[in-house]
Amino acid sequence: MLSEFDPARPGKAYYDLGPITGALDGVSGDVLCCINNGAGPSVLLLGGVHGDEYEAQVVLRRLAASIAPEAVTGRIIIAPSINFPASEKGRRLSPFDGQNMNRVFPGKTDGTPTERLAAFATRHLFTAVDLLIDVHAGGRDVSVVPHVFGFSTASSKVGSEALTRLMEAWGYRFIQHVDGIRETACGAAKEMDLASIEVEGGGGRMQGAELRIMEEGLLRGLAAFGVLKPTLPPASFAGVHVTAGPEGQYLASAPGLVEHLVGLGDEVSPETVVARIHPVAGADAQPRPVRSPVPGYVLRQTEHAFVMPGQLIGNVGTPLSR
Ligand SMILES: [Zn+2]
Repeated sequence: MLSEFDPARPGKAYYDLGPITGALDGVSGDVLCCINNGAGPSVLLLGGVHGDEYEAQVVLRRLAASIAPEAVTGRIIIAPSINFPASEKGRRLSPFDGQNMNRVFPGKTDGTPTERLAAFATRHLFTAVDLLIDVHAGGRDVSVVPHVFGFSTASSKVGSEALTRLMEAWGYRFIQHVDGIRETACGAAKEMDLASIEVEGGGGRMQGAELRIMEEGLLRGLAAFGVLKPTLPPASFAGVHVTAGPEGQYLASAPGLVEHLVGLGDEVSPETVVARIHPVAGADAQPRPVRSPVPGYVLRQTEHAFVMPGQLIGNVGTPLSR
């Protein structure tokens, strides 16, 4: 592994995130893979911002190993586990500082380990590419239907029309439209006029089918961007554009055990009983029905059977008329 980072080095190179980022004062970390093959588009695949979002990390490590430089036109940089201190413990947050990496961007070069890793990504990786693809998953708390969302500015190399076409190329059923948060990786990219796509799907469960959906979406997206030779037939978009604000969340009104009556991706209306909360004590066995707050599609569900009042049970995305 190389310890001097050079994003333009021809061919495939592996770097050690420990010494090149200085995040843990030179202690060895996870790999960063950089593949260069001539002139062309450039992309960064970022995984493991949250250490418990396992699917993304497995898929990106597999892509780094399997993509041959000859299949690339331009540059692909892959960081399977950018928050490696958290990933190495199987946890969402770094054991060194407990910070949520997706709230510390653009990071600080003299900050905590999490801030230093974020700063390295912002300063050295974001500046080396035309597009950021930040791959997340539900983590241990929620399961998420596969979907993508993206951000660009009027000055981004990949403009908003091109970004929408790219997201449609993923072949997923849902494209979400959200207001970005500045302190996320995608938010910091937007501040630098770098276009980004955030990928979601799965939920810390490591289902083979969900890993496959994630990998195939990325392969289709990279091919549509022109940075990777196509290996799959292109998907024609037949999905839905949705918004997913707080009005679509359904929360527990009482402590109890959640029984989900709909599945991820199911279409629901305000008449639909999406879940029931069963009491955990007392002679009354009557569960409380939970109805969908809005018409739309189920995007997320809690992975926790036991909930307390106010805790998220799920959320529904509302179709956008376009
Ligand atoms: Zn995440």
